Amino acid sequence: MRRICVFCGSSSGTRQNYQQAAQAVGRLLCRRGIELVYGGGNVGLMGVLANACLNEGGRVIGVIPQALADRELAHTGLTELRIVGSMHERKSLMADLSDAFVSLPGGYGTWEEFFEVLTWSQLGIQHKACGVLNVDGYYDPLLAMADKALSEGFIRPVHRESLLSDADPERLLDRLGNYAVPAIDKWIGRPAR
Ligand code: AMP
Repeated sequence: MRRICVFCGSSSGTRQNYQQAAQAVGRLLCRRGIELVYGGGNVGLMGVLANACLNEGGRVIGVIPQALADRELAHTGLTELRIVGSMHERKSLMADLSDAFVSLPGGYGTWEEFFEVLTWSQLGIQHKACGVLNVDGYYDPLLAMADKALSEGFIRPVHRESLLSDADPERLLDRLGNYAVPAIDKWIGRPAR
């Protein structure tokens, strides 16, 4: 994996552990020689993540829509800042640039971005691994929802498995690197259960 895209909150969250996890991921990417792709902001966990990677000597590419950059929220010290016209362009470019996707704790924006790329992998639009860093059980309810969707027949087993998760950043990166997204012909046209 040359580049990993990380989605995370534009807020920092209430627990110190969220910021510590973002720092750990930023440093870890640098140590593994993996470039960070993220939303280009200098706020919340996004800023913590980018600064941790940069401070360690890592390379960070930010992708931000003009409207957010205009509001002076863009990080000005990145290796590269790509300014795009819309949120759609941002998500598309982030996905094109990256070999895998990680979601740290965050809110609607983080979930939306993560589930879009997970769905693209499900549909065979891309073949890239997606995983959540489950800091202090933050994503337990989301993983429980995925289990419920599986048991209720809305997600196929092969796609439940493709939502990777781990509480440990090192293990999560290892799992992303080892995971082969299933080919679409393994499931398409068949019922979910
Ligand atoms: P959330 O998880 O709801 O905090 O959403 C993260 C999302 O916040 C990002 O994907 C962006 O769409 C948005 N966002 C808010 N502020 C900024 C900022 N300063 N720079 C970049 N993205 C931001």
